[in-house]
Order: sequence, then structure tokens, then C-alpha cells
Amino acid sequence: MTTDPVLTEALDKLAEVAVRVGLNLQEGQDLVLTAPVEALPLVRRITAAAYRAGAGLVTPILSDSGIALARFENANDASFDKAADWLYAGMAEAYKNNAARLAIVGEDPMLLAEQDPEKVARAGKANSIAYKPALEKIANFDINWTIVSYPTAAWAARVFPDLPEAEAVEKLATALFSASRVLNDDPVANWTGHNAALRERTKWLNGQRFDALHFKGPGTDLVVGLAEDHEWHGGASTATNGVTCNPNIPTEEVFTTPHSARVDGVVRSTKPLSHQGSLIDGIEVRFEAGKIVEAKATKGEAVLLKLLDSDEGARRLGEVALVPHSSPISQSGVLFYNTLYDENAACHIALGQCYSKCFLNGGDLSPEEIAARGGNSSMIHVDWMIGSGEMDIDGILQDGTRVPVFRAGEWA
Ligand code: ZN
Ligand code: ZN
Repeated sequence: MTTDPVLTEALDKLAEVAVRVGLNLQEGQDLVLTAPVEALPLVRRITAAAYRAGAGLVTPILSDSGIALARFENANDASFDKAADWLYAGMAEAYKNNAARLAIVGEDPMLLAEQDPEKVARAGKANSIAYKPALEKIANFDINWTIVSYPTAAWAARVFPDLPEAEAVEKLATALFSASRVLNDDPVANWTGHNAALRERTKWLNGQRFDALHFKGPGTDLVVGLAEDHEWHGGASTATNGVTCNPNIPTEEVFTTPHSARVDGVVRSTKPLSHQGSLIDGIEVRFEAGKIVEAKATKGEAVLLKLLDSDEGARRLGEVALVPHSSPISQSGVLFYNTLYDENAACHIALGQCYSKCFLNGGDLSPEEIAARGGNSSMIHVDWMIGSGEMDIDGILQDGTRVPVFRAGEWA
């Protein structure tokens, strides 16, 4: 990746943070790891850190952008309705047996931008259906899991298109490592402090028990009803298997479950959404009784409309998240074309599947009980950014009282 000794050392620290903070991998626990081939330097470091932490077996599954493109450029039409369901079934089996899950991301965010959106959507849908048994175990937080990222050359070229490759990679690496809080002497201790600060926010929100949040900003006037018995989460949290982990490295958000039938008004995106290799920008949608009834985008509208038609739950919200405009990722001013980073730069909402952990006693609730409380169900979960320095948010209590939550993009 780089010859810079600071960045090489940061990669060692990121591996340590991924295993000890992100996963909190337990003695004897197996690990399923997915990554692009370019991320091998990090894969190897994480594998070593995992075995040092007492891992049972680390199983890496690598992907390659050239192989992905070879399919779109050469496969017959029927190929695009296929997905490796046997592989995902095996992953689901591993998680059932308490394997931890680590994803390294870093693929070219616009890899499929030039491909037929119809085929991209079909392949994405087939993949979502096949992936569902494994994704459910992650979304239900049955096991400890985390996502970290690696600065690949292809990603760096998208983020810093005007820089020579080596410079772009070093600049992206610095931005990623800084946001991931590993550019300091003791990243594990730094994360302990950060998690404590996020816990203060969730404690306050859980004490308020808001009935709804009212978002107001340029192009946005949206009331998001919150699910009954919703619970706010942020930073470290405890999976059903009892392990406390940090599912996202980095993370700046606190988030909960909206009510799938109580979202009304209009909302405009504030950052482009990079979705399965395509870019969707300038999203404007109108919600009525929880459902998107009008949708447009200045870029990638066809991809957006296909996404909304994925299934019944794709037009309803599964997550609402608060991130101050002053978050380090927002302040970096970099558009990463990657949800893991960009969602931590701004308040966001997600279409599709809700997180069952965002309910009081969520781990014990059946899908029917979650639905009865307003939790949405879908094979997709797609976050998009609605926050900015101009966003005001009021919390609305049961009796209609309004409490300022955000003013001009910051905690009120
Ligand atoms: Zn989120
Ligand atoms: Zn999300």
C-alpha cells in the first residue's frame, strides 16, 4: 500500500483495533473474513492479530473487481439472476455456530457505474435474496461483527481523481486511519473514551422516549415517527452471544428504529449515495404514512427506482441516525463514496430492514413482535445522508411537546 512508516504502523494498529475493539474476538471463536484482494496486507495483519487473540479458525473469502467486471462483460443474461446461495448458507451456518464476522471494504465504489443498470439491479437483488439468511444473523446482532476499510488504489483514484496514484493512496489512507482513530499512541484506549461519549448521547435519547423526530433543512421537512419500545444505540454494543463489539470502524452515529407506518413529509439527500457500484445523487422523496410515494434523483434515478421496488419494505425506513456536522469525517470534507464513512459524516436514514437490537429486549422479540412495534422488514438496508450544517431536529414527546435535539447540524 505504502512505504510511509507512519501509515505502515497505522495498518498494524488498525488490525489490532479491528480484532480487539471492532470484534472483541473471544478465545476459541472462529472468524469469517471477507475482503477485496487488494486488502491482503490488512487481511494478513488481522489474521495474525486474531490468532494472537486466540481465534479458533480464520476463514478469508476474497473478491476481485476484475472478476466482477468479467461477469458483467461476458456472462449470458440468465447469469444475472444467480447468486452463491450455498456460500451464504455456509456463512449463516458459521454464524449459527458463533463465528464472528469481519468485512474489509475498499472496492472501487463506482466499479459497476458503466454497466447496464438493469443487470446491476438484478444481480444485486439475487445477491440480497441469497444473502438474507446470513445477513439476518448480522442484522439481528446474533454474533459480534465489524466492518473496517482498506485504502485501495481504485478507491483512492475515485476520491482524489486529480492526484497521482501513490499520493492519492497515502491521502486516503491518512483520512481512513484518522477517522478510524488509529493515528495515536493508544488506539484501544482512544476507542474506550469515544464509546463512553456515544453512550452518554444514547442514554439521554433513551431517557426522552421521543414519539417522533422532526427534521428540517433545505428541501427537507420530515416527521419520522419512532417505533414503539425503540432503543437508541451507538458505539460499542453487546450482541446476543454476549460479546460487546463495535460493528463499524469508524463510527460517529447514534441510531434507532423508525416506525414503518409513521413517516410523513419530504426529504432531500445531502451527499451522493454510492450503491452497488452506481452513484445516486440529488435524491428527493415524499413519504406518506411511512411509505415513499414519490421519488426522484438528479443522478442514478433508474437505480434508485429499481432499489425502491426490491420488495414491500424497500419504500419504508428501517433506521434513523444522528451525526453532528462537526464529526471528524464531516470536517475532513472528503466525499468517500463509501457508506461506512459518508454515513458517519451526516444524519441519515436507511431504507429497508430494521435492526432488532434497536428495541427494548430486542434480542427476545420475534419478527412478528418487531413488526407489531413498527419495525420494518426488507431484504435491503441502504443508508443515505440527509444531514448538513443547516439541519434542525426537534424531538416530539407523546403529549406534543417539542425538545430541540439538533440546531444548525449540532447537538442542541
Ligand atoms: Zn447508520
Ligand atoms: Zn444503516
